[in-house]
Amino acid sequence: MKSTRILVYVFFATFIACGRSGGLATTRPSPPAKNIILLIGDGMGPEVIGLAKDYAQIMEKRELWIERIVSEGRLALVHASALGTLVTDSAAAATAMATGERTANGMISMSPQGKPLTTILEIAQKGSRSVGIVTTTRLTHATPACFVAHVEERDSEAEIAEQLLDGGIDILLGGGLAHWVPQDRPVSDFGKLAPVAGAGGKSERKDTLNLLEKAAAAGYRLATNRDELLTPAKETKLLGLFAVSHLPYALDRQPDDAANVPSLAEMTKAALEMLSKNEKGFFLMVEGGRIDHAAHNNDIASLMADTLDFDDAVGVAYAFAKKQEDTAVFVTADHATGAPCLTARYSEEFGDTVYPDSEALKAVSRQDASFEYLGYLIGKKPSSVELKKLVREHVGIELTDAEAAFVLKGEPVSPFHVIKPKYREMGYPMLALGRVLGTRYGIAWPTAEHYAIPVLLAGYGGRADVVHGYIENTDVFRMMRTAGGL
Ligand SMILES: [Zn+2]
Repeated sequence: MKSTRILVYVFFATFIACGRSGGLATTRPSPPAKNIILLIGDGMGPEVIGLAKDYAQIMEKRELWIERIVSEGRLALVHASALGTLVTDSAAAATAMATGERTANGMISMSPQGKPLTTILEIAQKGSRSVGIVTTTRLTHATPACFVAHVEERDSEAEIAEQLLDGGIDILLGGGLAHWVPQDRPVSDFGKLAPVAGAGGKSERKDTLNLLEKAAAAGYRLATNRDELLTPAKETKLLGLFAVSHLPYALDRQPDDAANVPSLAEMTKAALEMLSKNEKGFFLMVEGGRIDHAAHNNDIASLMADTLDFDDAVGVAYAFAKKQEDTAVFVTADHATGAPCLTARYSEEFGDTVYPDSEALKAVSRQDASFEYLGYLIGKKPSSVELKKLVREHVGIELTDAEAAFVLKGEPVSPFHVIKPKYREMGYPMLALGRVLGTRYGIAWPTAEHYAIPVLLAGYGGRADVVHGYIENTDVFRMMRTAGGL
């Protein structure tokens, strides 16, 4: 069977080569890529890429790395849905990309019947390639989990942590230390987390398992902050847990050095340095996971900062593939969230339609902390005066009394903006502030949830020619397999 396939391949290759060179079969199809890097912007719909392109141009006078990859590589549209629904969550979407199979929302690389589905990472591992997972969310969160773990319910994160460890993954970098340490213990007993990364937090486990001890016994080096990540070491396995839960938003990490939390680009670079030592190649999944969270919060400034943070990681992958041509880079999103829309509006004052210009995004850039952090600063029962002061100091905008009252009321104006009770308990929900600020910037937020729209898949480097067409999210798996000869 295999030899037939090779024969057919050679026949076509010769035919094409003859056609082009007028007789001599001099060109051969490029061999499969040794290394596969998949970068997923969680919730990064096409409109987010468009906004980030304008934002990077206006604020940093630079082009996105994503633009470079799209321009020099190949592009496809991805239809992202789940089994039984037209709008997918991250679990079903990552299962589709990791395994090539459709499953129901909430399931982690399991069929609807509860059968574990083999992932692209597991296939690469069987082929003696090194494997790595890098994310800004908890390592046990849906997207990273789907490449390694198999559970029916995405919230089973304590179990997912055990499966991540048992999976023998070479590099694991992200957040969620609370799921790796024994119950009732403060995480500060187990590592030197930065304060902004929740150093005061506690274990989320319901048992006495110490997975860090198990990891050390299995040969892992442990890192819990940026300094530890960047310290050279002899171990070939690395477990980095840089926050009690998700990594802080990019906006809350600044200045990077003081925060002592690595950026996604720094984690990606560290992973590539270690993984590329394997002559047989590697598979690496990198997720910009908080893009989705910022969009759920209708927090445009965090959305831009985390998208640029993700884009920097894309730049690291691009530079790697430029040097090592046997590398295929895939950049995509699992679904879109929030649908932030930079839009014109009719102004009674000017008697005409007003179109937003660069001032809109310059105003966005004045926000110096995420809504998550601002909600934490203001406490659970803020007064109007406190809210207005907070927004003045951290966003640079003077709210009217009516706007402050709207934010404080916290009532959803639509069924698409209802905040789940568990999030309401965690702190003051700042979601409504996003819609108030949006009217100042010219950015509408039709929803705080996932919504259906095709997302982009860009391919660059070795065998990126497989990327084309209007495909299903399950085809991303097949394209990576072809590109990597897996
Ligand atoms: Zn989401």
